[in-house]
Formats: sequence, structure tokens, C-alpha cells
Amino acid sequence: MEKRLAELKLRLREINDLEAAAALLSWDQTTYMPPGGAKARGRQIATLSRISHERACDPALGRLLDELAPFEESLPYDSDEASLIRVARRDYERAIKVPPSLLGELWQHGAESFQVWSSARAENDFPAVAPYLQKTIDLSLQLADCFPGYDHPADPLIDWSDPGMSTQAICVLFKTLRAELVPLVQAVAEQSAAADDSFLLRYYPPQRQLDFGLGVAVDYGYDLACGRQDISRHPYMTSFSIHDVRMTTRVDENNLSDGLFSTLHEAGHAIYEQGVNPDYEATALAGGASSGVHESQSRLYENLVGRSLPMWRHYYPALVQTFPEQLGAVPLEDFHRAINKVRPSLIRTEADELTYNLHVMIRFDLELALLEGRLEVKDLPEAWHARYRSDLGLSAENDIDGVLQDVHWYQGVVGGAFQGYTLGNIMSGAFFQAAQEALPELPQQIENGQFGPLLGWLRENIHRHGRKYTPNELVERVTGGPLTIEPYMHYLRQKYGAMYSS
Ligand code: ZN
Repeated sequence: MEKRLAELKLRLREINDLEAAAALLSWDQTTYMPPGGAKARGRQIATLSRISHERACDPALGRLLDELAPFEESLPYDSDEASLIRVARRDYERAIKVPPSLLGELWQHGAESFQVWSSARAENDFPAVAPYLQKTIDLSLQLADCFPGYDHPADPLIDWSDPGMSTQAICVLFKTLRAELVPLVQAVAEQSAAADDSFLLRYYPPQRQLDFGLGVAVDYGYDLACGRQDISRHPYMTSFSIHDVRMTTRVDENNLSDGLFSTLHEAGHAIYEQGVNPDYEATALAGGASSGVHESQSRLYENLVGRSLPMWRHYYPALVQTFPEQLGAVPLEDFHRAINKVRPSLIRTEADELTYNLHVMIRFDLELALLEGRLEVKDLPEAWHARYRSDLGLSAENDIDGVLQDVHWYQGVVGGAFQGYTLGNIMSGAFFQAAQEALPELPQQIENGQFGPLLGWLRENIHRHGRKYTPNELVERVTGGPLTIEPYMHYLRQKYGAMYSS
């Protein structure tokens, strides 16, 4: 069995290395590649992706997993060996169920759809991309049908990024969240409207912004010996190894919070990946548990820590020293209110902490309706505007600020791409509450700039496990129960209540 386990690790390492090489090519594409390289790069990434997918579907890998089944059963569920075999089997069974022809069609169509969407968005021309979106929905349903036995066609698509989560369970969570969020947003937005945040829109020299943001990320626990930060149009984190986890950010010289909080967000993702047990390097257990758990770590560092008063009691003097002309006359409390200003808006990526989830839930509901056939593509723009009117009290004048704003539906699959954002926010509340119970001094530690205890708790309870547990298993282990919205809502009410009580 030892020999077979070693062979499994060898096979997984090859798949991992091919994927990591493709990811490195993508990273280069968004950071340093000259524009002329685009065509060849697309081909190179496709070649590596095809080979790694072939390896991931190799029947020899399936036979090996079968042979290892009795060994897995003889071990405790949460042992590293049993978990490795279990998670590798989950990946294998998922990979082999999708015929290569469908996968090829999805990739090909995704690239074409992205091109058409790019110009349709520039020209506010939803009808131009509508037939492509229809085909994406058809292909998404075909993809779902590769996994028969589901309750809802979105289930297999959600399971891909948030293993073990179902449409039904998410709908229940989101329904209660929406019912509590909409009135809270209304109550806070009225008071928040008066907060002055114009000083965040002064000229902030870009290099000083970058240095400050990265400095905070390093204080949080981001290890630059195993990471680096570069600039890209859309900030993201990418990992080639537990010992090489990179993040990108962007910087707007006339907007301090855009770049700063993007950096703190990606730092949360990167710190998670750097904290996985090094023994899992290049196996199926490396990486994050799910898109939701990943997002819980980025949101925790961006919002629950990064936009808190204790955090800025610590950093604000240094920030003022870095930008004396811009912030010298701004009191800490005004700064704190400005970075937490709640303002219903039309664009998801620019939304504040409170309204953000409303944007996500609108998309989640609409994609369910599209997959179920309750909503036709031609009626999508109007359905979009109607939900923005009812949930956020706003209506976009065009589809650029409406249904064309996010790339998700136009480059891949409809279904499974949005729920992770809000699941992550809900989990960030649950995990942070558990951390606070274990670390009663946490707010004071943050105020002192001591981020080590929080990092240690996250490492021990979440990061080191990598992909060992499903999100539901992880939440159960960490919080002692299933995922609920209460800790997250409690956090929001406390925070915004305190901010606007005086
Ligand atoms: Zn994120």
C-alpha cells in the first residue's frame, strides 16, 4: 500500500506541476507579457490544460484509487492519507464524468463569448451577446447532466467550487440574509449618506499606496520569501506552490481605498494558501477548501479586521504620516466612517460591505431562474433592473451598469460562480466569532498591531487543513454547528450600530 500511495502522490504531483505551469503562464499574461504574446500564450495555456486534464482522467489513476480504497477505509477519516485518497477520488470522479468533447466546446465557446461580451459591453449591446449567453446556458445544463441525480441543475455546478453545498441550502441561507440585510442597509444608508469621504479621493502617490498596503499585508502574515505583489487590471491571488503564492493589486492615484482594500483582500487569500500544511505540497490536499472558504479569509482580513476601528487605531498615525497633506486634518473617526460608507450602487465590484451581498444574491437568483427556464435570456436585462429597483432602490440607465458588468456569465458557465462570495462573507462572520471566543484579547491585539495570535488561530483551525475538509465539515469543526447567518449579522449590527449611535 505504501508503494501505491507513493505512486498516487507521484501522479498527483505531475498533474499539479502542469496546472502550476499553466497558472504561471496566466500570471505572466496579466502582469508582464507584451501584448503581442497573447495568441501564443492562449495556445500554450490550452496545451498545458489539455495535458493536465488527460492525466487527471487517466484510467490508471482510477485503478490506483480503487486499489487504495481498502487502505483508506482502514484509516481514520481525517488522517492525511485517507483524506488524500478521498479528495483525489472526488477530483478524479468529477473529471472523468465530463466528456473531453464537451470540455473542449466549453473552452472554445467561453473564449468566443468573452470576445463578443467585451465589445458588447463597450457598446451597451446586450442583444449582440444574448445568443452566446443562451449557448452558455445550454452548455451549462449539459455539464450539469454529466452528474445525474441532482435536485437542481445548479447543484453540480455549485459543487465544483463549493463542494457539498446545494442550491436548496444556499437558498435558505440567502433568503434569511436578504430579509435582514435589506432593512439594515436602508437604516444605515440614510445615516451614512452624511459621512464625508471626499478626502479618500484626493491625489495619493501610487508607490506610497503600494508600499503601505503591502506593509500591512506583511504585518498580517503574508510571507514575501514565498510570495510577491505585482500590478494587474483585476487584482487576484495565484498559487504555484505552498511556497510561491503571489498576489496582484491595482492602484488608483485618486482613490485611496480602492487599491488598499484590494491588497488586503488578496492578502487574505494568499495568507490562506501559504498556511496550508507543507506536507500537502503538490497533492490534492493543497489549496483552499472551496471558493466560499477562500473568500471568508479574504473578507476577514479586508473587512472584519481591515475596516475595523482597532485596526485603524493602530495604523492611522502611520497612514497620516505617509499622506500628511491628504489626511493630516482628518480625524480617525471620520476616516473610519469614510472607509465604511454604505451607499447603494449599481456596480458589484465597487459595493460597500453591507450592500455587496445584495448584488451577489441578485445574480445567484437570476442564474437559477435562467437554468430552470423560468427566465428567458431576452428578458434578463429587465429582470436585472427590476431586482436592483426592489433590493437597492436604484435602476441603471443602460446594460453596461446592468447585466453586462460582470464577466462571469460570459466566459465560462452560468451557475456556481457567485454564491461563494456571499457564503464567504457569512463564513467570515462565523469564523471570526469563533476566533474571538478563543482569543478574548483579539481586539486589543489588533489595536497593538499584534496579528500573530489571529494568524496562529486561522492557521491551526482553517489554513493548515487545505482541501482536507469540505466547507460544511470545516464550519462544523470550527464553530461546532452548521453555517448560520447569525454571527455575520451580529457583527454587522454591532459595527454599524456603534458607528451611528453617536
Ligand atoms: Zn476574493
